[in-house]
Amino acid sequence: MECPRCHSNKTHKYGHQRGKQRYKCNECGRQFIEVKTERGYDEKTKLLCLKMYLNGMGFRAIERVTGVHHTTIIGWVKKISLRLKDVCCFTLINP
Ligand SMILES: [Zn+2]
Repeated sequence: MECPRCHSNKTHKYGHQRGKQRYKCNECGRQFIEVKTERGYDEKTKLLCLKMYLNGMGFRAIERVTGVHHTTIIGWVKKISLRLKDVCCFTLINP
């Protein structure tokens, strides 16, 4: 389980909270509950979609390959482009 604060994988199970598994990070000490990523897609699927987008694939093409709805992908791209706004090669193309 990855720590939501420092993204370390050095975490361990740390009891339960409201029936959910709780974890504690060995690196920064943060306690967190296992969370599902937004709309049920996991981090690997999200990264795959973003990689396809960065390689010039259109949103609807990515949707056909991965099965992720294009509006979800657009949301991810918008979110990540805010973080990557200083990266000159990254341009947000409007669908
Ligand atoms: Zn941590």
